[in-house]
Amino acid sequence: MEVTPIIDLQSDEYYMRQALREAHKANAVGEVPVGAVVVREGKIIARAWNQVETLKDATAHAEMLCLTAAQNAIGDWRLEECTLYVTKEPCPMCAGAIVHCRPTRVVFGCADPKAGAAGGWINLLQSNPPLNHACEITAGVLADECLDLIQTFFRAARGQKKEQRARKVYRFDEESES
Ligand SMILES: [Zn+2]
Repeated sequence: MEVTPIIDLQSDEYYMRQALREAHKANAVGEVPVGAVVVREGKIIARAWNQVETLKDATAHAEMLCLTAAQNAIGDWRLEECTLYVTKEPCPMCAGAIVHCRPTRVVFGCADPKAGAAGGWINLLQSNPPLNHACEITAGVLADECLDLIQTFFRAARGQKKEQRARKVYRFDEESES
């Protein structure tokens, strides 16, 4: 008798969950929680999470690190037959890099209508010509979960800033009284 697996190991949801795991790693160290994986022939060949603060490198977005790791894994800069999964719509920098690496597909979680470069603000992934490659795009996979993680992060960050400001005000008050 054939048993139907509970988790479809080939589904976009499954791989997005793996990208979300990476995003949670970023979250745990205070990085903006974005994660990515690259999949080739059903296998995850690279994983990465946003490390801008950790590496003190503004280009260390999850996608950038994941592209480099994937290229190392296959020994080629061309990521043909590869799919990049990322929890948030890529920014213009990452979308530019993605097009250069030529993955077949890009799957993202939550959209970024303000600054996204996969259709949110502009669409660099499908600007061929003048760019020399176009990727298929699948948007909105586990979007709510991906967005919730980011929103919770920024809410907490704003809360901390408020607390820091409040402490400063308090100290100032103490000093002015003495
Ligand atoms: Zn980016």
